[in-house]
Amino acid sequence: MYRTLSGKEPAEAVLSEIKARVAKLGRSPKLVIVQVGDDPASTTYVTSKLKKAAAVGISAELRKLAKDAAEKELLSLVKELNKDRSVDGFIVQTPLPKQMDEKAILDAVDPSKDVDGWTSASAGRLFSGLDCFEPATPAGVMRMLDFYKVRIEGKHAVVVGRSNTVGKPMALMLLARNATVTICHSRTQDLAKHTSSADIIVAAVGKPGLITADMVKEGASIVDVGTTKVGEKLSGDVDFASVIKKADCSPVPGGVGPLTVAMLINNVMKAAERRA
Ligand code: NAP
Repeated sequence: MYRTLSGKEPAEAVLSEIKARVAKLGRSPKLVIVQVGDDPASTTYVTSKLKKAAAVGISAELRKLAKDAAEKELLSLVKELNKDRSVDGFIVQTPLPKQMDEKAILDAVDPSKDVDGWTSASAGRLFSGLDCFEPATPAGVMRMLDFYKVRIEGKHAVVVGRSNTVGKPMALMLLARNATVTICHSRTQDLAKHTSSADIIVAAVGKPGLITADMVKEGASIVDVGTTKVGEKLSGDVDFASVIKKADCSPVPGGVGPLTVAMLINNVMKAAERRA
């Protein structure tokens, strides 16, 4: 049997480091989360972020707007938070309602407070190898690989998915650590041909059971970012039960999820330390 790459222990390690950094800073960094509407999945994520932040000494506040709020109302809240000197970092929880241009809203966030790392400015800095707020989910995957001492340099990493928030930044982070990176997506022909030669696979698609044991090399490391609600349960992109017999694999739930929250809080800490 191979290793289950649990996210719980590495997330706890990140959070306990942050606790010590808050004490050293001598004040509570402040995070604001903006939520538009009350989509139940978003509410679950927001609640978990607020709770975890508060537990390590971050002052965390929720600002809510109605589901039918106008885009200009949200833009004016973003501008207010950009100016508010008491706020170290803030995020606008997605998805946003249809009447709003998500990219325009995210790009209105001051890059110095962009703790989600989703502005074009942050993406450009990541692309150029400059210091930046890294998007939390791929940063969490890197922490997981490091925590379990998975060698990255010189290895073949296959990232399945190419979204701006997960797949693309993931590929850049692996490349920055000297992996040889292949990016696969919905038009990739013969996905299995690529995954079966990978030392590391990061699956970020949202299709339960897409990656099966026959698509994986013996002894590889597989990180499952996918989360899809199937009935009452959350399912990953990887068929964990079969893959774990052949490779190290992260579970869903209990894998990347806790690390995503921890790395967001890590960015808030970084924003506060930069200002100090
Ligand atoms: P997304 O924007 O929908 O992107 C999905 C990607 O998967 C796209 O690039 C798409 O390709 C690709 N894809 C679709 N079908 C495919 C197939 N059959 N073979 C190969 N690639 C395929 O999703 P996302 O925001 O990146 O999120 C991906 C998954 O991660 C979702 O399940 C999401 O819920 C989950 N997630 C989890 C966390 C966490 O903390 N655990 C955080 C963020 C996201 P095209 O570009 O060609 O369409």
